[in-house]
Amino acid sequence: MTNSTRLTITDHSRDSAGLTYIYPVLSRRSGGLSIGVNFNINNACNWRCIYCQVPDLTLGAAPLLDFSLLEKELRQFLSDVLHGDFFDRFQVDPRNRVIKDIAISGNGEPTSVQDFDKAVNLIGSIATEMGVLPNSNLVLISNGSLMHQTKVQVGLRSLHRYGGEVWFKFDSATDAGRNLINNAAQTMESALRNLKISAAICQTKIQTCLVDYSGQGLTDVEKNAYLQFLKRIKNDGVAIGKIMLYTIARPSMQPEAAKMKPLSPELMRHFAGEIRALGFEVRVDC
Ligand code: SF4
Repeated sequence: MTNSTRLTITDHSRDSAGLTYIYPVLSRRSGGLSIGVNFNINNACNWRCIYCQVPDLTLGAAPLLDFSLLEKELRQFLSDVLHGDFFDRFQVDPRNRVIKDIAISGNGEPTSVQDFDKAVNLIGSIATEMGVLPNSNLVLISNGSLMHQTKVQVGLRSLHRYGGEVWFKFDSATDAGRNLINNAAQTMESALRNLKISAAICQTKIQTCLVDYSGQGLTDVEKNAYLQFLKRIKNDGVAIGKIMLYTIARPSMQPEAAKMKPLSPELMRHFAGEIRALGFEVRVDC
C-alpha cells in the first residue's frame, strides 16, 4: 500500500487504501479507525434509500466473494495498521490511532453475499488471531431485509461468537415511509419479524436515519408510528441494545438529493428525549 493521502473524518471513499474489499474510515461516530469490509464491490443493493451515498447504485446482490483475496487483504491491512506505518502514512491524529471496529458494511446490503456465514467466520477468525478482537468491535451494518434467510442467521451466530453486533437499519415504522425513504418492498411487519430474529441471535442496535424531505421535517404520523413501534417491541420483550439516530452528513447520490436536508438538531434531540422516555438508550449524531 503506497497511498499516503491524509485520511480525515470526511473521507469515506471505499478505495482510499487501494484495496478491493477493505477500506479505512476515520469515523466521527466511533472516534478512531473503522476498518470497513465491502462485499458489494458491484455497488448493488436490494434497497434504494433516497439518502444513499453509493455512486452508481444498482439493484441486486453482492457478487461471489473471492475468499483468498479477502483473507489476503484483511491480513495485510491489519498488519499494516498494527505493525506498519499506516497511521503515519495517512497522517492520522494521534488521538485517533486506535482500531475502534471492523465494520461489515459496504456499497450495498452485505448479507446478500452468497457465503455470508463463511465470510463472517473468516473475518472474525483473522481479527481474533491477529489480536484485534475482542478489544475492538465487530459490527454488521445491515438493512435487515434478509435476516429470515438461514445463511444470514448462521452468519449472525458466528458474529455473536466473536462478540459482534448488528446495526439494524430502521428508518420508518410506516409502510408509506419505508417506501419513500428506502424504496423497500418489505412491509413494516416483515421488518419487525426480521428485527426479532436478529435480536434473538445477536446483540442488535437500531440505526435510524432521519431526513427532512421536501421541507416536511419529522411528521407527526412518522413520529407517532415510530414511538408506537418501540412500545410494541418493548412489550414483546425484544432486546434492543440502543437506538442510534443520525441524519445526512454528506450529499446523497440519488435523484432525490436536492429535496433533502438534514433534520434539525433541535428536532433530533427532542425526538431522542421522547424515545428515552420509553426506556431506551439513545445516541444522537447530528
Ligand atoms: S441499504 Fe444502505 S447501501 Fe442499500 S440503498 Fe440503503 S443506504 Fe444504500
